[in-house]
This record gives sequence, C-alpha cells and structure tokens, in this order.
Amino acid sequence: MKIIDAHMHFYNIPGFDELAKKAGHENTAEHYLRACKENNVVLSIAMGNDSEEPSLFGGTTPRVPNLSGKFDYKNYNQPPEIAYCAGVKSEELTLENAKATAQEFERYVLTPQCVGIKLYPGYNHVYVYDPVHFPLYELAEKYNLPVVIHTGDTATSTAILKYAHPLTVDEVAVRYPNVRFVIAHCGNPWFADATEVAAKNENVFLELSGLLGGQFAGDIFYQKHQSYFSYLRMWLDYLDRYDKVIYGTDWPLINIKSYIEVMKLVIPTIHHQEFFYDNAMRIFPKVRELLK
Ligand SMILES: [Zn+2]
Repeated sequence: MKIIDAHMHFYNIPGFDELAKKAGHENTAEHYLRACKENNVVLSIAMGNDSEEPSLFGGTTPRVPNLSGKFDYKNYNQPPEIAYCAGVKSEELTLENAKATAQEFERYVLTPQCVGIKLYPGYNHVYVYDPVHFPLYELAEKYNLPVVIHTGDTATSTAILKYAHPLTVDEVAVRYPNVRFVIAHCGNPWFADATEVAAKNENVFLELSGLLGGQFAGDIFYQKHQSYFSYLRMWLDYLDRYDKVIYGTDWPLINIKSYIEVMKLVIPTIHHQEFFYDNAMRIFPKVRELLK
C-alpha cells in the first residue's frame, strides 16, 4: 500500500536534529527519503517552519521547508517527493498587511509544490478566526487549497493553548464553507471537540500526526497505551467518517515505521487505503498532479 504523509517537517534546525535521533532517524534529506522508500511513503507534505524570504508587496512571506538548502520558491529546490504547506506568521499579521500577505502567498500558491496553507495559532497567540487571516482563507478558496491548523498540545511552553483548541476551528469553518480545514493532531488530547467539529462541518477533516514521539515497537506501544488509543478510536467511530481522517507523522518527531504500525492498529483495516492515501489526495488536490 502506498502512503502519503500529510504532515511532517523538512527543516534544518538543531532542535530537530535531536528529535530525529530520539526517533531513530537523522534529520537529513537523504535519510528521510531512504526511510520513505523503505516504508512505501510516496509523497510527504512539509509544514513550513520559517523563512527570511523577502516580501514583494509589503506583506509577510510564508514559512517554508529548507532541509535541501535555502528554499527557492520559483525554482523549487527541495526533493520532488516533498510538497509543502506555506506557513502563516500570524504573529506578524495586522489588518493593514493582511491583504498584501495574501498577495505574497499567491506567488507561492501558483507553484505546483505548494499544496496548502498552514496556521500555528497556539504558537503565534492569534485565533484562527481573527480577521487578519480572512484574505488568506479567500486565497485558499480561490485556489481550492486546504488550510491546515495546528491544534492541541504544543511543543513549547510559551505557546498558549486556548488559541490551539480545536473548537476554534468551528467558527472559520462556518464562515468559509468552501474552504477545507484540516485539524492537525486531531486536537490532541481534545479528541471529543475535534471530532465534533468535523462531524458538524462537512468542510473539516482530522489528521493524526504527532500523537506520540520517539521510536518504539508499534504493537507493544499500542498495548501500553491501550486506553489512550481506545479513547481516540471511540471518537473516530463516533464521527464514523473515515473518509475525513488522514495520516501524518510530524517527522522528525516520530519513527516512521513505528508510527505506521501503530496507526494500522488504531484505524480499522477496511479503511487503511483511504486513511493512508486516498483521503489526502482528495483533501490536497494538487498532490494528484505531483504523483502523476
Ligand atoms: Zn507539525
């Protein structure tokens, strides 16, 4: 079975090197691509981490991946197996620069490898429904791109959880019914809230990356955390829409092989094809072109 990893990071900073080691990996492009080959991961969607890209219109420029050298949006220089979501610097957005920021993003969105937009509301201390984001949602609608939102637990204690709560996605989902919103990390640990927002809104989807860190034997880990996974499964079954749930790792946080093993135990076998591949193709339509 082919796999699409709909959430990982392709970024070169020291902290990521440590995380990769803990997960039994190396934070290099060569190592990652080899691990993908071994595990039949045919395409990965990197969440943009940061950038010092110059602005052309007076807006803020997207966060991008850079593990294969300094990012070049026009002449894409990351591996062809890596697509990306342009990350929003919400902390730098104002009502004055919001429209110009959408113009900056449009330059990236027009290239084949930019397949979505990513928000980090908890880290940036800005609600997803803050009007500074509206021009970006209009851009997402115009180009039929999904908007991925980091929800739930954060990696740093300077983040503020109220901004990252999955219930906040309900408000933008209602305001922009033609935009697909992806609740990253399924709102971990607020699974009930995340699944309810996806149950109520046809345009909201769940992504299961980054629920656990490190390297482990999938079945032993699954047994050790049986009640956690049963709880997650209970809410996924409550939703009963496995066409709305997608696979991701949050690499370099997680061992790729281990995570595939665990997720195969969490998701009913009959839905593996949708979960690991088909749903991502539908939610991120540009991926289809890249995989041709
Ligand atoms: Zn992530």
